[in-house]
Parts: sequence; structure tokens; C-alpha cells
Amino acid sequence: MDQDIDRILYSKSDINKACIRLGQELHQAYHDKNPVIVCVLTGGVFFTTDIVREMDCNLEMNFIDVSSYHGGTESSGSIDLVRDLDVDIKDRDIILMEDIVDTGRTLKYIKDLLSSRGAASVSTCALLDKPTSRLVEVRAEYVGFEIPSEFLVGYGLDYKGIYRNLPYIGILKSDVYT
Ligand code: 5GP
Ligand code: MG
Repeated sequence: MDQDIDRILYSKSDINKACIRLGQELHQAYHDKNPVIVCVLTGGVFFTTDIVREMDCNLEMNFIDVSSYHGGTESSGSIDLVRDLDVDIKDRDIILMEDIVDTGRTLKYIKDLLSSRGAASVSTCALLDKPTSRLVEVRAEYVGFEIPSEFLVGYGLDYKGIYRNLPYIGILKSDVYT
């Protein structure tokens, strides 16, 4: 897999430091709230499991899956709910765990869905944020790294289902997808 990567943007150790920082921030804000951690599958799994282990407080975990990319490198615009939560979130404090916020469509879709079910609060923790790519107005309150608008893989992020298990985050060589 390494030979398909143009450049490493964040090493395993960079990611680890960001997870420790975010876990501590979330612990501070949520230690007495028994939050529901909603992990957005599949990319968010790596990040979520690393962060919750930095939080020394009661919390519950649940999973949601939506599809927007349909396998390419460009967001398609339409979003499908692929797997729903299996817990009642009414009056609960929710922390949404997203691998990356790009156009913002996915995050907005999920935030609106959870808010419509009566969650007490919904905030977002995103490992990566591409603020210059936003097409809808939405914000992640907790962010690991702000990045330029480039297609990244590794540490949960895939291209056509591959590269998620890379321990670092890197830029995919463009000849892999052109
Ligand atoms: P948005 O709806 O904000 O445009 O896109 C969010 C989703 O698109 C992310 O959850 C992720 O699955 C995918 N995505 C956005 N940017 C990238 C990227 O640079 N690399 C990969 N692998 N997926 C991305
Ligand atoms: Mg995603």
C-alpha cells in the first residue's frame, strides 16, 4: 500500500497526540453527562476507539452509517442512511465522531437527523476538517487537524474500500484514481 502514497501528512505519532488532546477535551466537557458517542462508520471506527480510551468517564457507544461518496474521490451530493442507531437518544448528549468533514453534507444530514429525535445536544468531533471545501454551513466543535482540500487515505479513510488500515494519513497518488 505504501507505494500508492504520495506523501505522509500525519504520522502515527501525530495522530496519537491529536487523539489524546481531543479525548481530554471531551472528557472535560462530558465527564458528568454520560454521553452517547455516535461513531460514523466505517472511517470513524479507528479514531473513535482511540479517543474513547482517553476518556475516563461513563459513556455509551453507538454506530450509524451513511453513504455519500459511492466509491470515488468526489462527494456525490445525495446521502443515504445505510445503518441506523439502535438506541433512543431523546434527551441524551451526543458526540458525533466523524473521520473527516469535507463539503459538510454528511455531517449536516446526521446532525439534523439526531436533533429531530430530541437529543439534548449534538456536537461533533472530527479528526480532519477541510474548511475550504464546505458547501453547506456546519461546524465541528472538536477538530484534530485542519487540512487543505486534498484526497487523503489511511487511519480509517479509504479509497474504494482500501487503505483504511494504514497507520498514518497520507495523500493518495493521483495516478491511482485517474
Ligand atoms: P462530506 O459529506 O462532508 O462531503 O463528506 C464526508 C465524507 O466523505 C467523509 O465521512 C468521508 O467518508 C468522505 N471523505 C471526504 N473527504 C475525504 C478524503 O479526503 N478521503 C477519503 N478517503 N474520504 C473522504
Ligand atoms: Mg465518512
